[in-house]
Amino acid sequence: MVLWKPGHSLEVRRAVAAVCVLASCLSMGACGGSQERRTGPAPAAEARPSILLVTLDTTRADSIGPEARGVRTPAFDAVAARGIRFRQAYATVPETLPSHVSMMTGLYPAGHQVHENGRTLAAAHPLVAEQLQHAGYRTAAFVSSFTLARRFGLARGFESYDDGVSGGEQERSARETTEAALAFLAKAPAQPLFLWVHYFDPHYPYTPPEPYRRRFAATPYLGEIAAMDEQLGRVVAAFEQRAKGPAAIALVGDHGEGLGDHGEALHGNLIYQSTMHVPLVIAGPGVAPATKDLPVSTRRVHHTLLDWAGVAATGSLRRPETEVVLGEAMKPFLEYGWQPQVMTVDGPHKTILAGPLEMYDVVADPGETRDLSGVPAIRAKVPGALRDYPVPSPAAARAPETLDAEARKSLASLGYVSAGAAPIVRKGAPRPADMVGLFAVIDRASGLLVAGEYGKVIPLLQQILERDPFNLDAVLRLATAQSALGREGPAMEMFRRAAELAPASPDVRMYTALHYARGRQWPLAEPLLEEVLKTFPDRVPAVEAMATLRERQGRVEEAVSLRRRLYTLRPATAIEWTRLGELAMSVEQTAPALESFERARALDSRRFQQDLELGVLYLSERRFPEARDALDRVPASHPGYPMALFKRAQVSVLLNEPDRAARIAKARQHADGATRGLIERERLFK
Ligand SMILES: [Zn+2]
Repeated sequence: MVLWKPGHSLEVRRAVAAVCVLASCLSMGACGGSQERRTGPAPAAEARPSILLVTLDTTRADSIGPEARGVRTPAFDAVAARGIRFRQAYATVPETLPSHVSMMTGLYPAGHQVHENGRTLAAAHPLVAEQLQHAGYRTAAFVSSFTLARRFGLARGFESYDDGVSGGEQERSARETTEAALAFLAKAPAQPLFLWVHYFDPHYPYTPPEPYRRRFAATPYLGEIAAMDEQLGRVVAAFEQRAKGPAAIALVGDHGEGLGDHGEALHGNLIYQSTMHVPLVIAGPGVAPATKDLPVSTRRVHHTLLDWAGVAATGSLRRPETEVVLGEAMKPFLEYGWQPQVMTVDGPHKTILAGPLEMYDVVADPGETRDLSGVPAIRAKVPGALRDYPVPSPAAARAPETLDAEARKSLASLGYVSAGAAPIVRKGAPRPADMVGLFAVIDRASGLLVAGEYGKVIPLLQQILERDPFNLDAVLRLATAQSALGREGPAMEMFRRAAELAPASPDVRMYTALHYARGRQWPLAEPLLEEVLKTFPDRVPAVEAMATLRERQGRVEEAVSLRRRLYTLRPATAIEWTRLGELAMSVEQTAPALESFERARALDSRRFQQDLELGVLYLSERRFPEARDALDRVPASHPGYPMALFKRAQVSVLLNEPDRAARIAKARQHADGATRGLIERERLFK
């Protein structure tokens, strides 16, 4: 029996639209439920504990804690010994950002709509930090990976959000993050505090520091866990020392790591225990030491923190209730159109729906080796929530184009590259677990493509298409790679194939148009671009190609307005702003020119060389003080220095500066062919 059918997708889209209705069962608290207040007065401020949340990236449930295999984690164990350790805790998604968004919002991805890394959480969803801040908490976050950088939406409610990954770094070590957190704690205010620390070390590549590198030479992943645990101990100790009063602590994994289980090396593509089953411990006020075997979702971290703070008590893990836990792994669906993967855990039974149904007793068989779906008595227990789980619309979940090239590179270097095109949802789509041989190839191909290694990526994409000929993303990437190498014939063959696979796809039209644009075949590109932009005025590559086209056609005003819109859709570099300033200046659009030059200067003042242009523009706007400052910045080495002196002298007269006569004399003295006549004719100088 196939429970999920391709024809499902339309219903599913409607289901997503109605997610707040469904959310009542999917994510208690999704639609304002978490506003439920305690009856009676909130506890007095001094009784409320300071709260430490430590999220442990890429940490398998069986790789940390007293039952861990192959590694000792004394810091984690010490917290576990005085709190509740949940032995059946589950991430909502086996990827960093969506999993953290669930912990911070209390929602399943169907509720918060972030199914993959590289997306941005919508501002409408309240975050636990905002709620705690509103309740009088001081808030601070220290995260260790670009995947959680401020731009992705989790910084709301944090007075300080140290993503420490600027300056080209994509991650930082637990030691560095701990140092930053400890420095903060040393001068933290006396109010109740909410501190979130995120460690990223166990994430691939596995390069633990010494002495763990040597000690765990054969199992470097566990070496990363051990190194992280050492830092965890430091942050817990410092936090408790600082808290003085009661302290509450939650330690939780965001997802695990495949390490070869079920053929998956890393995480994100499958929905088995290796990546979904995570460590979870809570310790603090109202928590008696225990180990619990009832399945819980890590989204309950949100409810638990609110409970500790006296904001809302519903759903708290301090009093965990039996529920059917849900989870999803939509990346292969959203990127390649493979089967969407949903799971439920109900008591010991885990059910996976990804095309065919799979059922496991994960307590007796944590390796998920014996599929029990053929056992009628067990099969009868499939929770209804599994079938009701809303699958996201591939179009709605498209890769955001707001990511600039640097952000894409950063994510790619961490192993995450979003698809460029919405996938083809098709009959008999492959089950991700049957495609494990391709994961590494796809990851490698994505990395090479982002790095612009087109020659190397082509054989990999061909390999993917041999196995999965309906993979639209791979077809378009192959077409684009051929196009970038200037191979017109093979590129067009692939674009034609893409059009056959997905005749209505705006992605196909757009990438084909970009190919024509690349080859300067503007008459072919123009109608396609116009068509794409009519339907999707914000498709970044299309706006960009159209801006270039309009400029080449001499329709410079249109080019200027397209570029200005483009730079509201994605960040622009200093060079791009400068270029736009010059373009706007060439058609006497003073205001856009000024804005563009100022933006370029703000981004990179050291390399900014358009102060003369700025001075002239400000002068023409009669903004004399700004003109003066800009012209004063023009160095004597600038080829337009004589012009700058002339303009500066004009400004000096207009500002009635005391040294205006000396400035006129200086302009005369340095005059060149371009300025000599202007100076002699200038009435201001008379
Ligand atoms: Zn992660």
